[in-house]
Amino acid sequence: MACNGNCSGCSSDCADRKAEDMTIPANSLSNVKKVIGIVSGKGGVGKSLVTSLLASAMQAKGNKSAILDADITGPSIPKSFGVTGRVEGTEEYLFPKESKTGIKLMSVNFLLEQEDAPVVWRGPVISGVIQQFWKDVAWGDVDYMFVDMPPGTGDVPLTVFQNLPVDGIVIVTTPQDLVTMIVKKAYNMAKLMNIPIIGIVENMSYAICPDCGKHINIFGESKADEVAAALGVPVLAKIPIDPKTAELVDKGSVELVGDKYVSDAVAAIERIEK
Ligand code: ADP
Repeated sequence: MACNGNCSGCSSDCADRKAEDMTIPANSLSNVKKVIGIVSGKGGVGKSLVTSLLASAMQAKGNKSAILDADITGPSIPKSFGVTGRVEGTEEYLFPKESKTGIKLMSVNFLLEQEDAPVVWRGPVISGVIQQFWKDVAWGDVDYMFVDMPPGTGDVPLTVFQNLPVDGIVIVTTPQDLVTMIVKKAYNMAKLMNIPIIGIVENMSYAICPDCGKHINIFGESKADEVAAALGVPVLAKIPIDPKTAELVDKGSVELVGDKYVSDAVAAIERIEK
């Protein structure tokens, strides 16, 4: 007898138990070909920046990109793209907003009366909103959807992994992280869920001296190669701290940063098999 995934009090041999598929089916107005999660062990490492750069670079190559902003308590996607206001909707569907280059965006900020209102919801409510962003948004045709994941390895990222058909993840880290431990947590969580790890992006990897062009390791030596080798995954990018990048993000013009930092990451994502 199989135990249907609930083994408490189950007296049978559960060897044939299969992991329950909790993926939520897409709605009839959405045709999303690949879903890529951008994860980090903690907030503030540049996960949203990397999400924005990848979506912009894919869009610039002629693909149809979308961003599902699942970082519900710290949404920064609308600001980086300079998109504000409420989304349109019907009884059944919400319609994503579009960036200047046509990237489809969905974020909790588009649902709030005031964009600076704090989101003081508990985990299950946040998870519910993310599920709605998948099943109630009319995404249309999308080649690459990037999910700006909630930071960490808690309840909410777990729901995203379980409910969205994630094809692979990119782990974002910085040299000053407790690198090995935090990256390994994110890595192990994805492994547990059978989600392929595309690679690691080290953000704030170095700064470039404006006078001599020398690379300065502000947060110490890069540990990305070491950690990636230990985990058997590639380093997809090392992104410098750059005041120009910060300025473009602040102005809502992240699309103008270009693909100079993420072209290898884009190539790796293109190679993912469905
Ligand atoms: P997270 O999504 O991990 O919380 P963000 O992408 O929102 O982090 O980045 C936090 C802040 O740091 C943002 O204001 C962003 O513009 C800035 N930032 C991130 N990476 C860089 C970088 N490489 N150079 C300059 N500013 C950066």
